[in-house]
Amino acid sequence: MSRSTEVHKFGGTSVGSAERILAACELISRAATDADVAVVSSAMAGTTDRLVQITGAGHVGRQQRGEAVAWIRDRHERAVKDLGLSGVEAGDRVGALLEELDTLVAALDLMAVTPPAMHDRVHSIGERLAVELIAGTLEKMGTKATPCSADAFLETSDAFGEADPMTFRADARTAAALRGVIADGVIPIVTGFFGQGPDGDIRLLGRGGSDLSASLLASALDADKLVIWTDVVGVYTADPRLVPEARVIGDLSYREAGEMAYFGSKVLHPRTMIPVIEKDIPIEVRSSIEPDAGGTRIRGGASSDDIAVSVIRDVTLIGLEGAGMAGVAGVSARMFGALADAGVSVILISQSSSEASITVAVRNADADAAVSAVRNTFRLDLARGLVQQVTERPDLAVITAVGSKLNHRVGAAASIMGACARAKINILAITQGSSELSVSIVVEGQDVQRAARAVHDRVVQMDSAWGDGSEPTCVLIGLGNVGRAVAHELPEDARIAAVADSSGYLVFPSPVGPKCSEFAAILRRKAAGGRVADEAGAVAGGSPAELIDRVHELGVPSPVVIDCTAEAWMRDVAEDAIDRGIDYIAANKHVHIWGVWGGDWDDATMFGRAMLLGEATVGAGLPVTSTIHALCAGGDEIVRVHAALSGTMAYVIDRVAAGEPLRAAVERAIELGYAEPDPSADLGGMDLLRKAIILGDLTSCGRYIGDPADLTPEPLVGLVTGEPIGPQLDAADAALREWVTAAMDAGKSPRYIAQLDTNGADELGVGPMAIDSTHPFFGIPASNAAIAFWTRRQGDVPIVISGPGAGAMQTAGGVLADLARLRAIRATVPIGRVL
Ligand code: ADP
Ligand code: ASP
Ligand code: MG
Repeated sequence: MSRSTEVHKFGGTSVGSAERILAACELISRAATDADVAVVSSAMAGTTDRLVQITGAGHVGRQQRGEAVAWIRDRHERAVKDLGLSGVEAGDRVGALLEELDTLVAALDLMAVTPPAMHDRVHSIGERLAVELIAGTLEKMGTKATPCSADAFLETSDAFGEADPMTFRADARTAAALRGVIADGVIPIVTGFFGQGPDGDIRLLGRGGSDLSASLLASALDADKLVIWTDVVGVYTADPRLVPEARVIGDLSYREAGEMAYFGSKVLHPRTMIPVIEKDIPIEVRSSIEPDAGGTRIRGGASSDDIAVSVIRDVTLIGLEGAGMAGVAGVSARMFGALADAGVSVILISQSSSEASITVAVRNADADAAVSAVRNTFRLDLARGLVQQVTERPDLAVITAVGSKLNHRVGAAASIMGACARAKINILAITQGSSELSVSIVVEGQDVQRAARAVHDRVVQMDSAWGDGSEPTCVLIGLGNVGRAVAHELPEDARIAAVADSSGYLVFPSPVGPKCSEFAAILRRKAAGGRVADEAGAVAGGSPAELIDRVHELGVPSPVVIDCTAEAWMRDVAEDAIDRGIDYIAANKHVHIWGVWGGDWDDATMFGRAMLLGEATVGAGLPVTSTIHALCAGGDEIVRVHAALSGTMAYVIDRVAAGEPLRAAVERAIELGYAEPDPSADLGGMDLLRKAIILGDLTSCGRYIGDPADLTPEPLVGLVTGEPIGPQLDAADAALREWVTAAMDAGKSPRYIAQLDTNGADELGVGPMAIDSTHPFFGIPASNAAIAFWTRRQGDVPIVISGPGAGAMQTAGGVLADLARLRAIRATVPIGRVL
C-alpha cells in the first residue's frame, strides 16, 4: 500500500520557543512514521510584527528598528543555544540570516522610504529563520529534514506585500521541488508566507499567509490531508479571546470556513480553502499545545451544525447619499469602480432600495483613499447637487454570523438585532449575504466585545446546553445566608458570571455552572467565614458599582444582578444596572421600593428594557408578586389588600399573648434571626410599611405617590432610636399586654396588618388590628405570614396566601421564582411550543 501524503503547518506560537519547536518536531516525527510529510512553518511568534516595525516608515520606524532587531536576534540566538544547534550547520545559517537582517537594516537606515522589494525581503526573514531551527532540530533528533525557501518554486503575482499565487491549483514546479526531497526520505521544511514573483524576487502572501502556503503545497503534492497546528484546539464558534463562551466546532465546510475567515476569524487565512477545494483535501485545525484534544475538520461536503461569529475591527463606513441617485443606472458601478481603481477592498455593501444611499465598509487604513476616490468620481454630481454628500464614519467593527444553518432559519437576522437591542448596542448597518450563509452588522468599535458576546449568545448558543440563547447570566451580590441559599438552589443549567460580598468581587473568566467545583468551593469558604476578596482573581475592595461596570464592559451575555444585600445604597447600583439594560432581581427591599416608587415598570418586558423583580421582598417565598401579576394581567382589579407580613411582629404578639414579657420576646426574636439587631424598624412598623408601599404600587390599590419617608406607620411599640431598648420595652409592656388581652377577651385575634384600599381615594395604612372571626386571617396561626386580595372579579371572597414569610431558604425561593420568570420572559420561544 502506498504511503499517504500529509502537509503539516505550524503557526508562530507553535514554533515560538525552543520548547515549542521541540514539541513541533515530535509531532512531525510522529506523523512521518505513517506518512510522507511536508512541513510549512511560520516565523517564531512576534517576529513578523518586529519585522513590520523595522520596515515602518519615518522617524518612528527608525527609532523602533534597533529594539526590534535586538529582539529578533536575542530570540533566535537563544533558540539556537537551547536546541543545541550552536556549531552545527543550521546554527551557522541562523547566524548568517541574522547578519543579512543587519545588512538590510543598515541599508534601510539610509533610505527615507522602504522600497517594496526590500520590504518583502525583510519580512521573509522570520520564516527563513524558523525553518532552519526546525530542520536542524529534526536532524539532531535523527529525523532527516531539510530547510526549503519557497521563493525557489512557489510562483506568485507581481504585487508586493500581498501577492496572489500564480495558480490556486496544483502547481507542477512546487510538486517537482518537493517530491524529490520526499522520495529521498527527507522531510522538506518549507517557509510559509512568501513565494517568488515574476522577477525571481520574494513576494509576500499577506499577513497570516503561511496557511495559504500550506494549502498550496497540499494541493501541489496531492496530499491526503493538511494539518494546521496552532495555539487553539480548533476553529471556535468565535474568537475565544473575545468570547469566552465560544466552543470548538467539530466539522465545517470549505465555504463556511472561508466565509468565517473572510469576515475576520484570524485562525485561518481567508484564501486557505481555495487550493484544496478541487481535490477535496481535508484540513484539520489542531492545537500543538494539546495535540490530543481533537480539533476541527474542514471538508467539502461537511457542513456545520454550528453558527460562528467573526469580527473585523478598525472599519470605516463610507456613504454616498443623494436623492438624485434614485433610479439612475450605474451609480453603484461607478462607486465600486472608483474603489477598485484605488485598490480598496470592500468588506460589505448595503444599499437602500430607493438607491438614495449606498454604504460600504472598508478598512480604516483604506478610508482616506476610498473617500477621495469616491469624491473624485462623483465630483460633477456633487457640484450639481445630484449627490449630496460622501460621508465617513471611522473606528467601527463588523460582526458576522456565519453558518449554513442560517440558511433555513427563520428570523436569524431578527435574533441578531434582538440580541443587540437587549444589550443596548446601536446597529449602524446590516447586510445578509445572498447565499444566506452570513448576516453582518456594523457597530461602534467600542461595542465590539459586547456585541460579539451578545450575538454569540443568541444565535450560537441557541441550541446548546443552556437551552435558548437568552439564558440570564447571574451576577450574585451578597453571599450571606440568603445569597448562599440562592446559590445552592440555582437550577443546574443556570450560569454565573460573578460573585460579590462586602469585601470585593470576582468575575469568572467565562460563566460557570452552579455545580462547578470552583463555585462550590467559594460558597464553602464563604460559609466558613471567608471573604470573596481572598479568592484567586478577586478584586479586593471592588464595589458592586465597579462590578456592574465590569459586567457591562466585558459584555457578559444577558446579565441579571441578584441582590441579596440589605443595603439602601444598592439603589444607585440598581439604577445604573437597569439603565444599561441589566435585569435586576432584588431580595433587597430598599431596591424594590425604589424601583416601584421611582420608575414605571409596566412595560419593562420590552426589548432593550431591563426588568426589576422583587418577589422575595414581600413575603419571602410566598408567591405574592406573581399572584398580583397573574390577577392583573388577566384584567382583574385588586380593590383591597390586607397583609400580615412582619415575622417579628407576629412572633412578639404571639409570645406576649402567651404571657411572656415583651422584652424577653423581643430578645428571643433577635436570637432567632426574625428581627434586625436594632428591632426598632420592625417594632415601629417600618419594615411592613416598606412592603405595603411595594404592594400598593404593584396592585395599583393604595398606591402611594408621595415620598415614602413622609409616611409613618402606627407602631405596635413606639421606640425612640438611639436610646437603650430594654427599658423602653419594659415601659411599653403593660400597654401592649392590655391591648392583646382585651382583644382576646373579645374573641378576637391581635395582629399587625397593612391595609390597602381603593375607596374613592387610595389609602394605605399600617398598624395593630384586632381581627374577628369574619376576617380571612382569623383561622391562620399568627406566626404565619398572610396576605389577602379582594378583587373586582372575585367579589367578597378574598384570595388568601399564607405560609412562612421569612427565612433564608424561603427568601431564596422568592429569588429563584423571579429568576424562573425572567428566563421565561427572555426566552425566544420556538414556533409551535406549547406554553
Ligand atoms: P498561528 O500563529 O498558529 O497562525 P494565529 O494567531 O494566526 O495562529 O491564529 C490563531 C488565533 O486566532 C487564536 O489564538 C485565536 O485567538 C484567533 N481566533 C480568531 N477567531 C477564531 C476562531 N473562530 N476560532 C479559533 N481561533 C480564533
Ligand atoms: N509570519 C506571518 C505573519 O505573522 C505569516 C503567518 O504566520 O502566517 O503574518
Ligand atoms: Mg495564522
